[in-house]
Amino acid sequence: MSGLGWLEGEAAALKGQSLWRTSRTLTGASTATPIVELDGERLLLLCSNNYLGLASDPRLGEAAAAAAREHGVGSGASRLVSGTGELHVQLEERLAAWKRSEDCVLFSSGYLANQGTIAALVGRGDAVISDALNHASIIDGCRLSGAEIGVYPHADVAACARLLHKARAAGRRRLLLVTDSVFSMDGDLAPLGELVPLARQHGAMVLVDEAHATGVLGQGRGALAQLGLEGQVDAIVGTCSKALGSVGGFVAGSRLLCDYLRNRARGYVFDTAPPPPVLAATLRALAILEAEPALSERVCRHAQRLAAGLQALGYQVMRPDAAVVPVLVGDSAAALALGERLRQRGVLALAIRPPTVPPGTARLRLCPMASHTDAQIEQVLAAFKAIRDEAAA
Ligand SMILES: *Cc1c(COP(=O)(O)O)cnc(C)c1O
Repeated sequence: MSGLGWLEGEAAALKGQSLWRTSRTLTGASTATPIVELDGERLLLLCSNNYLGLASDPRLGEAAAAAAREHGVGSGASRLVSGTGELHVQLEERLAAWKRSEDCVLFSSGYLANQGTIAALVGRGDAVISDALNHASIIDGCRLSGAEIGVYPHADVAACARLLHKARAAGRRRLLLVTDSVFSMDGDLAPLGELVPLARQHGAMVLVDEAHATGVLGQGRGALAQLGLEGQVDAIVGTCSKALGSVGGFVAGSRLLCDYLRNRARGYVFDTAPPPPVLAATLRALAILEAEPALSERVCRHAQRLAAGLQALGYQVMRPDAAVVPVLVGDSAAALALGERLRQRGVLALAIRPPTVPPGTARLRLCPMASHTDAQIEQVLAAFKAIRDEAAA
């Protein structure tokens, strides 16, 4: 008898709560172009994190193909063994300069960057203070670290201050404040202008995760750049997997911090080095972003237009500070139903349900891309209008 018997009941329970997830296979040339193909239908894609349209940009494809021909597909080993090539060094230097920091460490993903960095910076006897809506990779890093975890209600600076004070008073050795800059499911910006000085006042380290701000805010350099706070935080985490159209994660900071992570972050030490084609693609993306700052302005403008239009139609929209536009629904089944109605009208957007978001706050998360035309954004609004009119009829 298999020990997996419990799975059937577990799966049935999730299905009963409309919480069972499946992935849909897109069949066209790309899963990241404005128009994608699902079950033979052409749909307008509104749920990709490919904010600038670079994931399907032929220039990145050419850079990746050339790197594969020249350097091969795999890197062959972890960075500290024999996996470090010239492209790794070049990309780390390029990212460090871009983030105005001394150095930068590449990881295979943003997930590993957060997990590895947090667990390297704090441990038993330390405290990590974390926003309630931080990304799962931050939560996992906190748990893995063994440090005491203090979670403050989303964006609540006063509660964060109390936790910092409490950790200090309890004699915790090191303190780490960690927050997303742009929150992935709510689309808002953390109150960094207050949090960063607060942390410094308590002598706490600060890690800011710029996954959804990289390439989007501050002319692409992120929310910290936009706010003039880049030099004030200890570690800036970013991902190459969203706006940069490639894959990978990174941590920018001081040379000593980065060298320490190269020794201590397990997701760096024990992971095979990122492969040459994705490094070349990321380098190309950075060059494009620098030459075309209008790309990041364009995706933000699309987000503002979507939010204003939906609000005017009577939908409950959360204010987008970057390019994530959440339409609040509440009930998981209702969010799925709205997603399905949109699909029938040619728009692909994803219903986000617990545990990704708190219970009772299921939503549709819309992400425009710079590669959408203005007409396509209006098409999305027209679909929402038709659904609203249908419901009112
Ligand atoms: C997507 C995301 C990550 C993980 O980045 P990957 O490169 O996809 O692993 C980390 N933090 C936040 C806030 C994210 O949205």
